[in-house]
Amino acid sequence: MGSASHVDRVLAAVEAATDELVDFTSDLIRVPTVNPPGDAYEDCARLIGERLAACDFEVEYHAAEGRPEHTAAHPRLNVVGLRRGRALRPAVHLNGHFDVVPAGSGWTLDPFGGIVKDARVYGRGSCDMKAGIAAAVYAAEAIRRAGVELNGSVEISGTVDEESGGFAGVAWLSHHKRLSADRQDFVIIPEPLNVDRICIGHRGVYWFEVTTRGRIGHGSMPFLGVSAIEHMGVILDRIRRELLPVLAARTTAVPVVPDGARHATLNINGIVGGQPVDGIQTPCVADFCRTVFDRRFLLEEGFDATKSEIQQVLERAAAETPQLAYELRDLMIVQPVRTPEGSPLVASLERGIKHVLGRQAQQIASPGTYDHKHVDRIAGIRNCVAYGPGILDLAHQPDEWCGIDDLVNSTKVLAMSILELTRSM
Ligand SMILES: [Zn+2]
Repeated sequence: MGSASHVDRVLAAVEAATDELVDFTSDLIRVPTVNPPGDAYEDCARLIGERLAACDFEVEYHAAEGRPEHTAAHPRLNVVGLRRGRALRPAVHLNGHFDVVPAGSGWTLDPFGGIVKDARVYGRGSCDMKAGIAAAVYAAEAIRRAGVELNGSVEISGTVDEESGGFAGVAWLSHHKRLSADRQDFVIIPEPLNVDRICIGHRGVYWFEVTTRGRIGHGSMPFLGVSAIEHMGVILDRIRRELLPVLAARTTAVPVVPDGARHATLNINGIVGGQPVDGIQTPCVADFCRTVFDRRFLLEEGFDATKSEIQQVLERAAAETPQLAYELRDLMIVQPVRTPEGSPLVASLERGIKHVLGRQAQQIASPGTYDHKHVDRIAGIRNCVAYGPGILDLAHQPDEWCGIDDLVNSTKVLAMSILELTRSM
């Protein structure tokens, strides 16, 4: 049997499964897996597990034992399915998170109705990323229905909590060696990044908190106290004048989209100081002020230089301002990741996109972080990308949707990639 006919039969099987693909996406949307707090995870894990079992996968469930967020009220349950081919390796693993962010306001239809209208599937999590999970399942299923036996194995996992860091999900599976370079060769995460774009990584994240400490005094005689808020103002002003222009001038060679995110950035998440402004006020000089920052750093910058640059700004502010006292505390550090140049995983998806969509794939990197980091840094699997159905800009928006054409096309691309990576075509 020639390879071309393998591919043709598999693509025809995807096409023939369109209604099932759409129905399964709708079914997944109807399970309101809202995070926070992590609702209905068990129902969703079982729904995916039952479908995988029906598609001839060996199915395992992994509760995130040991994680504080894994509670009786909100159990963190992950599901992994394995379908063996002639051999276990090469092993291709497709991972999708099934948690969704809260619906929020502004919807014109039921966010958890799984409504299909105008050739789109609507609902919270439709593109991010229940369509991606359905695409993964039916990519593997189309190969089976086409009667093609793989030379390697394919796995599909549905995991929790990506939207809140993935610690009970992909990180947990990686720490427990269920995801590991010893078991899998390639990982594809079908996040919605547009059907012709392959995401090869993301920038790093450094969340930190700066606290300034002053001395309380009577508000009518502020000169007798030390204002922590004024000192925070000094720090913010220095950051604005000394740091932000430097960050804006730094550009990564990694193709982050949108263009603005190709630079190093700094956002102020929140600030609090002195008395609560909604309460009864008394005349006092503020003796503390706290600010939380979100610094996104480039692969080329690295974490150590990123942190030390911030420390230097703080030290200069303290050295040049009498009585300015501050503390710096790390809140979260995520290292940047990048799929290796020349990865066969990227090449296989590029070929699939060319074949199915008739156009050149674009390699991009994500402005924000996703589960790639755990796959790379904990599981040690370098050949990892995100590729899946749906438009990136619609994620987390009201009236989120995924086009059925995207869903079908990305399923075809994923199926071709599985065939190629397991050397079955
Ligand atoms: Zn997502």
